[in-house]
Amino acid sequence: MTVLPIVGGGEFTVRRIYCVGRNYRAHALEMGGDPDRELPFFFQKPADAIVPDGAAMPYPPRTAALEHEVELVVAIGAEGANLRAADAAGLIFGYAVGLDMTRRDLQAQAKKAGQPWDMAKGFDHSAPCGALSPAGPGLTLDGSAIWLDVNGTRRQQSDLSHMTWSVTEVIAELSRYMRLAPGDLIFTGTPENVGPVKPGDHLHAHIDGLTDLRLSISQPSY
Ligand code: MN
Repeated sequence: MTVLPIVGGGEFTVRRIYCVGRNYRAHALEMGGDPDRELPFFFQKPADAIVPDGAAMPYPPRTAALEHEVELVVAIGAEGANLRAADAAGLIFGYAVGLDMTRRDLQAQAKKAGQPWDMAKGFDHSAPCGALSPAGPGLTLDGSAIWLDVNGTRRQQSDLSHMTWSVTEVIAELSRYMRLAPGDLIFTGTPENVGPVKPGDHLHAHIDGLTDLRLSISQPSY
């Protein structure tokens, strides 16, 4: 059972991890997509792919292109299906900063061959995620900066207002495919300037208003 710490105390038991593909215009463009016409699409990672703040992520096997994607993570605290965006906010338990770690070479091969993304996206340790901050009147993410440093150098920098689909629109769209339930996490997509990491690197991810996530990349475990 995978749990995430809650800021202020307690634990959040993770049920499922969903991820949004392409939710920032500039990242859609850098990946060769059309940012103006594509609805959000979804993929999953295993719940036990979570890596907590302060831990090390072993460099995964079968890749030479492990890349970072810094993302806002939404935690779901109530059940819901087939929602309208106007009703989606009631499902939100809280937020965290996460990293959708990606074997970019395997993803490119899968795209080219029309094969699934599971081995490119849903591998062991592929979902580092910081502590969850509960939603509430004291927490506003409007206009929050989102950034990622690698070894002290800024790699990604954007603003949550640049998301193509808002958090409630993402929840509503996903709920048309799957019934959401307490314990679900949604990684809501990355801004531009994704890039490679290697063993020994130190990653520092930040979203204004949330608790930072720090991660190191360790030597391959196999
Ligand atoms: Mn992503």
